[in-house]
Amino acid sequence: MELFKGFLMGKLKKISEDYLLKRLHRKAMEKSLGDDKGRIEVLEELIIQLYTLYQISKSLSVATQLDEIFNESMDLIDGYMSVHEYCLFMIDENKNELSVKACHGFDEGEVEDVVFKLGEGITGSVAKNGESILIRDVAKDERYMHYKGKKTDVGSFLSIPLTIKKNEVIGVINIHKKEIDSFTQSDVELFTEIAYDLANAIEKAKVYEETKELSMRDDLTSLYNRRYCNDNLEKEFIRAKRYGRTFSVIMIDIDNFKMFNDTNGHIKGDEALILTANILKENVRKSDVVARYGGEEFIVLLPEIDHNGVLKAAENLRKAVEEAKYFNEDALPTGKFTITAGVATYPEKAESIIDLIDYADKALYAGKALGRNIVCA
Ligand code: GH3
Ligand code: MG
Ligand code: MG
Repeated sequence: MELFKGFLMGKLKKISEDYLLKRLHRKAMEKSLGDDKGRIEVLEELIIQLYTLYQISKSLSVATQLDEIFNESMDLIDGYMSVHEYCLFMIDENKNELSVKACHGFDEGEVEDVVFKLGEGITGSVAKNGESILIRDVAKDERYMHYKGKKTDVGSFLSIPLTIKKNEVIGVINIHKKEIDSFTQSDVELFTEIAYDLANAIEKAKVYEETKELSMRDDLTSLYNRRYCNDNLEKEFIRAKRYGRTFSVIMIDIDNFKMFNDTNGHIKGDEALILTANILKENVRKSDVVARYGGEEFIVLLPEIDHNGVLKAAENLRKAVEEAKYFNEDALPTGKFTITAGVATYPEKAESIIDLIDYADKALYAGKALGRNIVCA
């Protein structure tokens, strides 16, 4: 007994002795095993369970990406626990709905699109009330919806809320075993702890992703910032070079913006910058990246777009800004708020990123020299 305890303590440094003994005691009570053989079996089972918990905690504590957490937790449960199906739902904050983020043990496409409203079925109730539900025999429980008729299950089912600070429920994890009445109290405790780890890891990853997203953005316009754009340019360049693809950039500078600021003040200037950013974003493809490159300069990165394509895209942007209504634009020399754009394409016009930006920049200044409100190559 002491030997086992030593082994366990060594392996599971993180888990307290008290906790272990409490679990062992409960297990022994559950199975009413008095002899040494029985105790060893109980201990072996406990080792596996605690080791699983330890592995899951360890993996989750370093995971920073949501997808990584979803997939990893599924793999770990699959690797260590004898369950048939499990499914992780997250609450969509806007819709008051729960949708599947990860699942295991189902056929492809079987449950991925199942959605529960808050309060609907077992999953919805668990999410709404924040309390676990254990169903010993799914055939005898009317609340059980069999994933909306997609499964005609037999066995037992455990649904646990994923809860973070102050009992806020962010999702639900469902575990299904094919045998009736097959969740012991220890199983319920173990899965509850897994759910706790999972919920915290998910929350941490969300904060991490939000922070990362913020660090890539420009405060004023919410466009990507120059740093993000440079990283992206580098990635696009490597990809284009490796696969023999083309891509283009558009450099954009607002015309007479100093005068606009001087006439209307910085606040109106800022508003005009935001409006311009929105116009640019709305008039490019989803795959194009629009970034604020400097004060009143923007850059657009267009993957897979060749020289003719980028000329058209830039002209489209120029026209969209020219046609938009800006505050007191009549006071500008041309009576219109406008932009000038310079374009360049890899590999047609430049062989490196520096050359590409330089080429687009020179084209932009050629456009300024030609009188502004123009696209130049
Ligand atoms: P050009 O047509 O040759 O580009 O003339 P311009 O006046 O636009 O160019 P210039 O470089 O002389 O002036 C750029 C102006 O952009 C000056 C600066 O005050 C303004 N600007 C840069 N960043 C911001 C900003 O964040 N907010 C506001 N309101 N103005 C900005
Ligand atoms: Mg400028
Ligand atoms: Mg300017």
